[in-house]
Amino acid sequence: MPPGSKKVFVKTYGCQMNVYDSERMGDALRPLGYAPADGPEGADLVILNTCHIRERAADKMYSVLGRLREMKAERAGTDRPMRIAVAGCVAQAEGAEIARREAAVDLVVGPQSYHRLPELLARSRAGDSAVIDTDFPVTSKFDSLPARTAKGQGPAAFLTVQEGCDKFCTFCVVPYTRGSEASRPVARIIEELEQLSARGVREVTLLGQNVNAYHGEGPDGAAWSLARLIARLSDVPGIARIRYMTSHPRDMRDDLIEQHADNQKLMPFLHLPFQSGSDRVLAAMNRKHTAAEYLALIERVRKARPEIALSTDIIVGFPGETEAEFEATMELVREVGYAQAYSFKYSPRPGTPAASRPDQISDEIMTARLARLQALLTAQQTQFNRSCIGQTLPVLFEKPGKKPGQAIGRSPYLQAVHVDAAAHLIGQIAPVAVSSATMSSLGGVIVSR
Ligand code: SAM
Ligand code: SF4
Repeated sequence: MPPGSKKVFVKTYGCQMNVYDSERMGDALRPLGYAPADGPEGADLVILNTCHIRERAADKMYSVLGRLREMKAERAGTDRPMRIAVAGCVAQAEGAEIARREAAVDLVVGPQSYHRLPELLARSRAGDSAVIDTDFPVTSKFDSLPARTAKGQGPAAFLTVQEGCDKFCTFCVVPYTRGSEASRPVARIIEELEQLSARGVREVTLLGQNVNAYHGEGPDGAAWSLARLIARLSDVPGIARIRYMTSHPRDMRDDLIEQHADNQKLMPFLHLPFQSGSDRVLAAMNRKHTAAEYLALIERVRKARPEIALSTDIIVGFPGETEAEFEATMELVREVGYAQAYSFKYSPRPGTPAASRPDQISDEIMTARLARLQALLTAQQTQFNRSCIGQTLPVLFEKPGKKPGQAIGRSPYLQAVHVDAAAHLIGQIAPVAVSSATMSSLGGVIVSR
């Protein structure tokens, strides 16, 4: 099939792992002639790559599916019929129910089986009813996906090195939708990073639900830690920057902290969720660490890399959370000082232990707590960004900005940086003298070298 003869539009919801998976779905479909479409209108195949981490994801998906159904109906009988697939964690959690509720869906495919998309599409064309594949296959999808050679995706890329989770935090669906923890072998990761480097990637973010629990098989047959993997990946020619996400405090080992001290390619940024500042809530969440242990960890990380920027995830209104326990969360935020953070109202996920607790917190209380927390986090983020004014930071330019000639890049601390007269630098790292800052980005000028 000639390339570009058909178009696929993948709409991504949720986390970076879904962004990675969406790109890989594109890779899996390329041999069938599919090229990316900018929207559903021009697409022969529309894939919704869904997220199930918080409520309303499924509701949102069904409303989008309703609109797609109308589009599909308009194109029925023409020479460009539309097919609709649902992928990701809602597909995994709801399975055949999706096709029962929305007859326009042709295909439901879970996060561990999307490498089979070509075969599933063929089956869907041949039959009348929707094709459902939410297996956790024995062979990893990674072994059957084509190389990552697609051009034009920018100089920063995600690379999944670990998937699934065995930690079973009582609020979380990930262990059910992504399956148990598995690490990819070191050799496969090196191979994928070399492919990325060959297509112009300079910065890679290693992804995993618990990426610092990585323990993939090394070329020597031993289980390698994330620190060892990062050290090895730093030798891949062309790769200038490495990041990793998301880490669990329990898996933050000494060798990884040492990498932050010793490896200049490892960016001074750490996303380390703490969820709650209250030890009682942390125990009820099954997080297996206390607030004091988290703070001690932060101290060690800061000792290793004093300028490191910290980020976190926080949940407010976990069942039974008292005002004093919420205050403990605020206190922990004040004590650490974050460069950025994600904060959420607790959302009961069907099938998780916390969802059936009788002491659910009202939405009104959660909303009020979240507003207070976010005001504090916004102030901290703004303060952190302002502290960069006057510094010269190396910026990797990723894409054009809104204004002509403007380019947008990332600082080592993951801040977005807008620079005029920098469009020719896309794909390169250049020093920027930072002259302005807002809550969400920096501005500055290129320092001539
Ligand atoms: N593995 C990471 C960890 O342990 O910190 C987090 C991965 S999870 C996909 C991303 C974030 O979503 C979590 O850190 C948590 O803050 C949030 N989250 C997960 N389940 C949630 C729920 N039921 N309600 C609200 N937020 C939730
Ligand atoms: Fe979910 Fe992270 Fe807990 Fe695993 S460790 S269950 S992914 S929150």
